[in-house]
Amino acid sequence: MVGYCPICGKPVYFGEKKRSLGRDYHPLCLKCQECKRQLTPGQHAEHDEKPYCTHCYMRNFGPRGNRRVVSHSYHNTAST
Ligand SMILES: [Zn+2]
Ligand SMILES: [Zn+2]
Repeated sequence: MVGYCPICGKPVYFGEKKRSLGRDYHPLCLKCQECKRQLTPGQHAEHDEKPYCTHCYMRNFGPRGNRRVVSHSYHNTAST
């Protein structure tokens, strides 16, 4: 049974698929849509059916108003 990669839309064959969050991805497609970092299956977030690393997910889609609370765990000073 062949699944389809939700990122590129092409078939994902057994042996090359990376299954995460109920979907099959190509190894090269399972990366953060924001920072392009390679993701570990089952250890990343997803938004709008696209994979994101938890860092980008929290920065883009995390609960508003909590930024000050969680900011101490982020050492990325690239914002703005
Ligand atoms: Zn793909
Ligand atoms: Zn990211």
